[in-house]
Amino acid sequence: MTVENYLAEHSSELEQQRNDVSLTRYTGRFAPSPTGPLHFGSLITAVASYCDAKAQHGKWLVRIEDTDIPRIYPGSESHILRCIDAFQFKPDAEIIFQKDRLELYEAILQQLQQQDLVYACQCTRKMLGSNHIYAGTCRNLGLDFAEQAIRVKVSDQDIYFQDRLQGQQCSNLTQDLGDFVLKRRDGIINYQLAVVVDDYLQGITHVVRGADLLDNTARQIYLGQLLGYPRLNYMHLPLAMNAQGQKLSKQNLAQALDLTQASQLLQAAFTALNQPPITLDTPARMLLQGIQQWDASRIPVGTTLHGCYL
Ligand SMILES: [Zn+2]
Repeated sequence: MTVENYLAEHSSELEQQRNDVSLTRYTGRFAPSPTGPLHFGSLITAVASYCDAKAQHGKWLVRIEDTDIPRIYPGSESHILRCIDAFQFKPDAEIIFQKDRLELYEAILQQLQQQDLVYACQCTRKMLGSNHIYAGTCRNLGLDFAEQAIRVKVSDQDIYFQDRLQGQQCSNLTQDLGDFVLKRRDGIINYQLAVVVDDYLQGITHVVRGADLLDNTARQIYLGQLLGYPRLNYMHLPLAMNAQGQKLSKQNLAQALDLTQASQLLQAAFTALNQPPITLDTPARMLLQGIQQWDASRIPVGTTLHGCYL
């Protein structure tokens, strides 16, 4: 059968599928890690994910990614919550904390273990050396899972995805990374696993986040695929840089968002995202205007944002 014949025969069915897709409710999220207070780069992500979801009549959820307990910075969790409040973001569901869901991730790990998709790895940091691609040393050793790192077996396949801003991306996990860790030897659940499980359970359809996470996406798509979860839609935003040309981050001691300056900071975030000027004043009204005139195609192309917006 030719493609033309197939399309002709299935036209009403295909039309229905297209309608179903367009009816699928957009659910986005903002998922900060409390490893330091939120900074201007975090605000750009929050604003973009919020406006993109709301402009498409979608939902917007907040999730605190705090599985890496030793790296939690004192007070940053409450700073995140105060920011959500001060900037007048309105999450559509109760905020979830990943550290309350560790049993859930353990259950998913057990499921992967039963399917023989993961294995225990006893390699120390020293043994791994500077090689970034794991050679699969422990893959066939059948080690006991207790007190070892747990790695997922990756397959030699190209993972493609179309990023709404960064264009087509392709990665082969075998060649680029090797089997990667889902649970560390110290018992900490890896970010990659928690993200994939929660995006699925929260019904997330669209991920809008910083381009520093672009490299993680193939791993997350692969894990989602293993677990039978639907594919998400991705948009990775260019990163705000400081005067020294480094990305704003907790490591570079980026300034914490000053909640007494919420309106000015919001204005600066919309400017950084190249959106039309905001003329209203309070954070709630500014966000509403930002949603009404939201145009994702105006966001600067590339992975970094240059210039001072503050
Ligand atoms: Zn190993």
